[in-house]
Amino acid sequence: MTASGVRVRIAPSPTGEPHVGTAYIALFNYLFAKKNGGEFILRIEDTDATRSTPEFEQKVLDALKWCGLEWKEGPDIGGPYGPYRQSDRKDIYTPYGQELLDKGHAFRCFCTPERLEKMREEQRAAGKAPKYDGLCLKYSAEEVSSKMAAGEGSVIRMKIPTEGSCDFTDGVYGDVSIPWDSVDMQVLIKGDGMPTYHMANVIDDHLMQITHVARGEEWLASVPKHILLYRYFGWEQPVFMHLSLMRNADKSKLSKRKNPTSISYYSALGYIPEALMNFLGLFFVQIAEGEELLTMEELSEKFDPENLSKAGAIFDIQKLDWLNGRWIREKLSEQEFQARVLDWAMENDRLKAGLRLSQSRISKLGELPDLAGFLLKSDLGVDPSAFAKIKSPPEEILEILNTVQPDLEKILEWNVETIEAELRAIADRMGKKLKVIVAPLFVAVSGSSRSLPLFDSMAILGRSVVRQRLKLASQAVASLVGPKN
Ligand code: GLU
Repeated sequence: MTASGVRVRIAPSPTGEPHVGTAYIALFNYLFAKKNGGEFILRIEDTDATRSTPEFEQKVLDALKWCGLEWKEGPDIGGPYGPYRQSDRKDIYTPYGQELLDKGHAFRCFCTPERLEKMREEQRAAGKAPKYDGLCLKYSAEEVSSKMAAGEGSVIRMKIPTEGSCDFTDGVYGDVSIPWDSVDMQVLIKGDGMPTYHMANVIDDHLMQITHVARGEEWLASVPKHILLYRYFGWEQPVFMHLSLMRNADKSKLSKRKNPTSISYYSALGYIPEALMNFLGLFFVQIAEGEELLTMEELSEKFDPENLSKAGAIFDIQKLDWLNGRWIREKLSEQEFQARVLDWAMENDRLKAGLRLSQSRISKLGELPDLAGFLLKSDLGVDPSAFAKIKSPPEEILEILNTVQPDLEKILEWNVETIEAELRAIADRMGKKLKVIVAPLFVAVSGSSRSLPLFDSMAILGRSVVRQRLKLASQAVASLVGPKN
């Protein structure tokens, strides 16, 4: 235990590219621990086995490390409350499900997915929010035993009070009151014995002695379920703090369709982690104009969780660019700057992989910038005219770019083989030759129709940079397509 006893955590689910929103919540927790002389830990929440992958887990760890957010305990370094990956804790959760059944706080539900779907459809048709109707509450202990003995599949659901409301004080939102009749009888243990997020999250926060739970506001509506679980188990609940989500300048939810949201996108483009942390940290401090340039140390001194605005954190890329520029020019010494540039070029083996592909394609070293420079550029500046040289008309190029973009999102593990396989499958589906598909992609990804092999280049650049380049290419080509009559 720390002197202050404060223990906070970041609990990412490894189901996608590490998001700047995760860095934002992690930074809040990190600064909270630092300010209070407490501990910041990392737990991987991978109860959603179909969407969680080891590749994404590694990326989350790498991205948060790159941000400079060091954790005291975690799946990579262990600690006194491990394991820190929920899929490694399955046996820990099982007795707690049984405890709730024994105490009468939970019940077995035998409803089939078909019945549940029909129930929800009827509720929706009646204009009601879908929620479990409590059918299986009627079974006696004997009926449950005989169903179990007959091998009927079941899940464990929590009981919810039928009247009143759940009242609590959120560290950011203040007093909150949520009527119990709007809270669903949440599944706690799934048919395969694995806990759901809610169950695992509460048990782990308790066992890991977490004192403050700071997370995104999308979890505010789940607090009643969590508070109820703390009460059912007879445990002290942590202080909850729900931070407003980061938004685009137009107040819409930050999404990769509008702006790049992956931490890896910003590191690949040469943003420096101190500047990104500075930018995100400004949402948690009150400062006067002119005081924006802050180190992690200064952020933690000025950090004030009492003074956050609910108005939201606007992800203003121009401000990030401005801060990044100031960090490069004003904060890094000449040596530091040079070391950063080299580190950045070497990141993810980008330079080495680029040189490996270039060696057989040049006769003078000086040809390298033209051939492989696109691997390092933050902005390709592709002009619509670059696409005019492709045989396909702009309408067809646009169709290809727009088909490829969502399909590439389906690739689980991003590498040369999976990219090639997906693009071949797209060509088949569109009834086009592979070379017709790849021609516009070459230009979109490298800025030129003569460059390094496409699949390798896409793998080296990474998913988030490719996503952004394809999006910009679509916009460029759309300007060539005349209005439809
Ligand atoms: N695994 C959840 C997420 O990724 C964490 C929510 C929480 O912090 O309780 O959003």
